Amino acid sequence: MATKTSSTTQGQTNGKTSEVNGQHKEGQKKDNQLQKFFMDQLKDIYYAEQQLLKALNEMKSACTTEELEDAFEEHQKQTERQVKRLEKVFQLMDEKPEGKKCEAMDGLIKECKSIISETKEGTMTRDAALIIAAQKIEHYEIATYGGLVALALTLGKNRAAHLLDKTLQEESDTDEKLTDIAEEHINFQAEEEDEKSGKEQEIEMSESNYN
Ligand code: FE
Ligand code: FE
Ligand code: FE
Repeated sequence: MATKTSSTTQGQTNGKTSEVNGQHKEGQKKDNQLQKFFMDQLKDIYYAEQQLLKALNEMKSACTTEELEDAFEEHQKQTERQVKRLEKVFQLMDEKPEGKKCEAMDGLIKECKSIISETKEGTMTRDAALIIAAQKIEHYEIATYGGLVALALTLGKNRAAHLLDKTLQEESDTDEKLTDIAEEHINFQAEEEDEKSGKEQEIEMSESNYN
């Protein structure tokens, strides 16, 4: 089954939120609390994207297949552009770009690193596991950007919403692409790899029985 992203993510309901536009004028007092929360979330994802940029180096070099390595490479380049896009959003909000520690992304990256140390180099199992770890990251980003798009629209920051929505789409496409890579052959080959090593073990065991 494809693990496609939920269509209920905030911000993905294109057009629906447009009626909110114009209801709140920029800088209105009642939006201050919400705007502060929006800025907080923006800082959170700004930090998260930067951590991910670094982690992707390690993830790329851990891959077994070139296909997954290329996918990570492509997403790393995309992530660089996403960081720049976030800086534009900060600008649109008249604020300086600033990161705020995101415990969730730190944790997801940590999980990624333990997967690398717990799986054998050069195996399909490693790629299958890396894909799942990477998809957890994408899903975190999708939830964050989905919320940010919806909040930006509520705050009447349409240009910011548009930029954030672009990134939301990229995260969602990446998630789907990873699903395709896994389902096309990596998961199957990881399963075959297990069968093979199981047989090898059986042969080794029966050989050692004769000795
Ligand atoms: Fe991203
Ligand atoms: Fe966070
Ligand atoms: Fe991403």
